[in-house]
Amino acid sequence: MGEIVLEGVVKRFGRVVAVDHVDLKIRDGEFFVLLGPSGCGKTTTLRLIAGLEYPDEGRILIDGEDVTYKDPKDRNVAMVFQNYALYPHMTVFDNIAFTLYLRRKEMGLTKDDIRRRVLEVAKLLRIEDLLDRKPGQLSGGQQQRVALARALVRRPKVWLMDEPLSNLDALLRLAMRAELKKLQKDLGITTVYVTHDQAEALSMADRIAVMNKGRVVQVGTPEEVYLRPKHVFVATFIGAPPMNLIECTIDAVGEDLWISCPGFSRRVPDEARKAIESAGVKKVYLGIRPEFISVSKHEAEGSIQGRVYVVEPLGSEYIVNVDIGDGLIVKAKILGPKEKLSPGEKVYLNMDWSKIKIFDYKTGEALA
Ligand code: ATP
Repeated sequence: MGEIVLEGVVKRFGRVVAVDHVDLKIRDGEFFVLLGPSGCGKTTTLRLIAGLEYPDEGRILIDGEDVTYKDPKDRNVAMVFQNYALYPHMTVFDNIAFTLYLRRKEMGLTKDDIRRRVLEVAKLLRIEDLLDRKPGQLSGGQQQRVALARALVRRPKVWLMDEPLSNLDALLRLAMRAELKKLQKDLGITTVYVTHDQAEALSMADRIAVMNKGRVVQVGTPEEVYLRPKHVFVATFIGAPPMNLIECTIDAVGEDLWISCPGFSRRVPDEARKAIESAGVKKVYLGIRPEFISVSKHEAEGSIQGRVYVVEPLGSEYIVNVDIGDGLIVKAKILGPKEKLSPGEKVYLNMDWSKIKIFDYKTGEALA
């Protein structure tokens, strides 16, 4: 078991509110990611769960037990932090094995068991050739993997990880993401993982809490936060490139509501109408992800005219930046233009209207 509950947790540092009334329920066996920009309170939230900080308000429960003011050692959690302090005088093997040796009696482990476990994680993290070295003889990325191994070798209720892959090169990082996720799923150890990298969050998490300014803005599966963001902050923080946001107005035309945007206007879909009416808003953001826009050289019904601003090839895909008037750039992500698109060329955009999101301009909250 390893359910973690945060109830109304507040942490202040002087006048800075690092964590502002956070409520979270992290399920047993879940891979849970805290995602947000630098300074949003992710690390502090993790340190509160670990017991390295105590909150000013609220409670933290692990498996129903109030651990709010308990020592880290009494919480049965293993941590990997950004500034991994390895024991400099010990070999890599001993660094990884150390906590197992300390607890081998209570855990009922023989020397051989410990050796087997260390070799297992070392292999997984591709550091098996480094076991005889001292930390001073390792690169930053190798040291980081040793720190990760030290946590993974234990089987606590909870793993807490703060950007554990940040010092690895892109290829190794991708490989480690997959290995880490596989191991977590095999062992079913509840994991709270901090990152500011949205792609990492989407690829690893069962659920993500998106944080901003100490608050949790949305909790959901990767699909939910990507396709149904509750706030413009989530819409623009997740996705590369982020969701297009276009300032538009809402107007009543006869019986209908219309959304008027620069260069185009359209009847508000019935599904969205109720929410917009009850919010009583005039000004909104129309949001659409770049992959739900296609680009053509030929006009079609409802298409939006623009001019190619620039094309960014990404290998298998292309981002086409289109100026739809007055310098307003809309980004479309396409699999590859059928015909060559040159800057300045006239093109037509077709949006998939079933994928449109509408946000209140003032509050940023999703209306539909
Ligand atoms: P990053 O991704 O940059 O690590 P983060 O989202 O993990 O950022 P935190 O480290 O939790 O953010 O910091 C949240 C806020 O609290 C920041 O404004 C930070 O400056 C402040 N803060 C964190 N620790 C302390 C401290 N010990 N003393 C004073 N302020 C702190």
